Order: sequence, then structure tokens, then C-alpha cells
Amino acid sequence: MNNIQALDRQFVLPTYARADVEFVKGENATLFDAEGKRYIDFTSGIAVTSVGHGNKRLNKAICDQINNLIHMSNLYYAAPQAKAAQKIVEASGYDMMCFFGNSGAEANEGAIKIARKHGERDGHIKRYKIITLQHSFHGRTITTVKATGQESMHNYFGPFPDGFVYANGIDEIEGLLDEHTAGVMIELVQGEGGVEPLDKAKVQALAKMLKEKGVLLIIDEVQTGVYRTGKFLASNLYEIEPDVITLAKGIGGGVPIGVVMTSLKGVFSPGDHGSTFGGNFLSATAACEVVDILNEEYASGKLAETIEYFDAKLCEFYEANRRLFSAKVGLGMMCGLRAQDADTLAKVINAARQNGVMVLKAGRNTLRLLPALTITKEEIDEGFKLLSLAVASL
Ligand SMILES: *Cc1c(COP(=O)(O)O)cnc(C)c1O
Repeated sequence: MNNIQALDRQFVLPTYARADVEFVKGENATLFDAEGKRYIDFTSGIAVTSVGHGNKRLNKAICDQINNLIHMSNLYYAAPQAKAAQKIVEASGYDMMCFFGNSGAEANEGAIKIARKHGERDGHIKRYKIITLQHSFHGRTITTVKATGQESMHNYFGPFPDGFVYANGIDEIEGLLDEHTAGVMIELVQGEGGVEPLDKAKVQALAKMLKEKGVLLIIDEVQTGVYRTGKFLASNLYEIEPDVITLAKGIGGGVPIGVVMTSLKGVFSPGDHGSTFGGNFLSATAACEVVDILNEEYASGKLAETIEYFDAKLCEFYEANRRLFSAKVGLGMMCGLRAQDADTLAKVINAARQNGVMVLKAGRNTLRLLPALTITKEEIDEGFKLLSLAVASL
């Protein structure tokens, strides 16, 4: 462990404030560190290992595929990519087509390119502006960091691409529209911003207004997508019909993959967009298996049961610890508790890790829980027991 820490400090750029732990093995929502200590994982690697660690079905599908081909470029047809697109579109219920990249930021770049290309074609005035929300998070590339409505993230990296406008809540969006607005990009539950679900009626009214004005609605489902909120997409839960949707985190079960899907099937022509790795045999095979596994969890009612059970335990924990937390927040398996302040939250996260349960922070003072969607009742029980022990002394 010390050896690895030293190596990391010597050779890896210090962009992360890493916690003092090195994991070496995982089984579903249970983790083991280099010293053999056991943990319950309420993070799933920030909503990524959606079907758990060491998932046998996913691993077998990946192994079978990589024994044949891992990659052969997007110059040729690849069965897993076509099948992944079909599975994603069918699970979404929307009449859309997909483009594959490798991350959430890249998926959002694709969405922004779609909006700008569509804006270019749509009449004689160039529409290029994208409205996003304050406290949003859309990625770390130069463009998506500018799309992110957090001024603190725009400190060093300019000049940025033009055309990003930030609304202070969805009520402000209509007033910010002008003849140059190409699209509005929002998360339905702000993840990094504090696990804050938007109001359903307001989102539906926004979708209707934008449709009337011919402005695209882009939903960033990088964190909310792939059953995280209980339905395949949060857009399904909100009963809206977006023009563009992005996915990444949970869709590959840990294999890097990003997706931008759109109903604007004619927007791109060959050469407009591309990715060397995007949707290769490895990542697309992983996505196919993850969607199959989670479609079954959903259809059997098991996912709804898990969400209900987790929520009940979270409520119990919240009621028992009102001195530390002021609200319960989130939707489905994207949930958390608002801590009294940032200092309290730091103490909770630290104590949790020491007691063997991994949890996350969001925004300034939100305890964020993003467990694997396959987490068992036993793991949930154990996780909340450890969490209760952890906070008992705070
Ligand atoms: C994590 C996240 C991103 C960025 O995804 P990367 O894979 O890190 O590029 C974008 N949008 C949302 C809502 C996210 O949660």
C-alpha cells in the first residue's frame, strides 16, 4: 500500500485528492482493500459499476468477446455496437439513433455538436447557444467544463468556446432564450450539484415550451441513466421526450463508454463526428450485457424492491441522525442526505470509510449514495449498520 502511494505520488499527476485506501477485490457491493479489510460500497465507483463488482455474467460476456476481437475501428461494422444501439434505443422507448464515445464529457460534446449542427441547418440565423443550469456538471473537457454552470471551474482554462449561458433554475430559462439559442442542456437530478431532482411539472412545461420554440432539449443522463432512478432513463420517469440524451457512467458496468442518442436521425453525415475507440467490441459488448442484466432486474420487479428497501433504510438512518442531517434528497438509487455543513459531511465520510462503508460527497454538503443496482438486502443492512456505527460518535 505505502509502495503504491509512493508510486502514485511520483508518477500520477495530482488531480485527485485520494482517500487513503487501495482496493484490490470486489464482489457485488462488497470491497476488499490491500490489507484484507472488508467494505460495503455505496458508491459503485460513482454510479459506474451498476451491476456490481465482479459480475459473473458481465465478465463472461467480456471474456468471450475479447478472446475474439477487442477493437477494429469504426471503419467497419461491429455487431456488438449495432446491438448495443438497438438495446439502448429499445430500452429508452424513444425513436432515436446512437453515437458511441468513451465518456460522459465526450457524450456531451457530441450532444453540443448535434445542437450546433442542427442550429446551423435550421434557417438562416446561426443558432449556437446552449443554456445550462447553475450548479450543473457536464464534464471536464474545455467545452463541457464551460457548459458546467459552476464559475469555480472556469478559473484557468480559457479562452473557452462561446455560447454557454447559465440559468439560475429552470424558471429562468425562457427569459434567456434568443434567436441564437440552439438548445437547453440539463440534468434531471443534478448529481455533482447536490443530488437535487428537478420538479417534474416544471420540466414538462419546459419541454413543451422548448418544443414550441424549436429549441432542442438535451438531457444529460450520464449519471441518472441506465436505471439509476428506477426507470431506464430519468427522462422516462419525468415523462418527457427529449431531442438528445447522453449516457455514460453506468452503461458499461465499468468499461469506459459514452453514448449520445437523438431523434434527429439526419443531423450527422459521414465525417461530421467520430471516435477511434467509441463503441468498440469490448465496450459495446459490456453495454449489451449490462442493459440485458438490468432490463431483467427491472422487469422482474427486483430493482423496484431494492430501491424501496434501500430507501426505507436510508429513512431510518436519517431519522436516527437528524442532528447531523437536514434533509433526505434524490430519486431511486441516486440519493443522499443533506448534512448540516461541509465540515460535518467530511467527518461522516471519513468515519464511514474507517468503519468499512464507502460513501460520496456531492455539492458542498450532500452525502451522496449511488450503490450498485444489484446490491443485496444483506449488503444494504450491513452498510447502514456500519454507517450508523460510524456516525454514532460524531
Ligand atoms: C460524471 C458526469 C459527467 C462527466 O462524465 P465523464 O465520464 O467523467 O466525462 C457529465 N455529466 C454528468 C451529469 C455526470 O455525472
